[in-house]
Amino acid sequence: MSNLLRLTYASTAEFEPVYNSPGIEVSVARILMQSRRNNPKRRIGGVLHYGDGYFFQCLEGPRDQVNDVYQVIAADPRHRDVQLLSALTPDERAFGNWSMKYVPVEGTIKTLLARHGVERFQPYEFSDQLVNELLRECIRGGDPTARTIEPHAAAPGDRPSNRPGLWARLLGKAHQPT
Ligand code: FAD
Repeated sequence: MSNLLRLTYASTAEFEPVYNSPGIEVSVARILMQSRRNNPKRRIGGVLHYGDGYFFQCLEGPRDQVNDVYQVIAADPRHRDVQLLSALTPDERAFGNWSMKYVPVEGTIKTLLARHGVERFQPYEFSDQLVNELLRECIRGGDPTARTIEPHAAAPGDRPSNRPGLWARLLGKAHQPT
């Protein structure tokens, strides 16, 4: 049997969205940096969506590692009502080189949802078919943050002005040390 595990879950964000520049929400940017720093060490790939106050994430990698990180993520106070949507043991990886891809809900994802008659990004209500199509779309889709969000996250309390690029711009005004 395959040692790969591909988990998909939905959850509800616990923070009020803050956008310092067009594009990605501040807390989501921070989560992406943590993921891109940690996931390669665990050989985990996947995709994260955030939209309309909800998360949808797919985690793929060695079974024990995926289970471990899922426990950590489920206990994170930045979201709640973490609900497993699917758990598959594929023979091959779908998310090759990505430590954590980010695909915005706007654009192709909203188009896909509209095709299914879904108006809001409400992943708890997604059918198995929609989850599968969404993942296929994610594998194909581009990641606007791939070059701008760096894999070394700031520790809580780090001064954002020491962080170059998008990180500094995103957290410049809204940063509240946690
Ligand atoms: P550090 O980054 O050093 O953080 C130290 C501690 O502070 C951790 O306990 C962390 O939970 C907490 N913390 C840090 N920043 C904040 C903040 N702004 N608000 C509240 N608490 C904070 N992690 C991954 O490694 N891979 C993933 O794929 C992944 N996906 C995630 C998806 C979602 C929707 C969420 C909400 C979180 C995700 N995380 C992911 C983050 C994960 O829950 C842990 O926070 C992270 O793995 C801890 O990394 P670390 O041990 O390097 O701790």
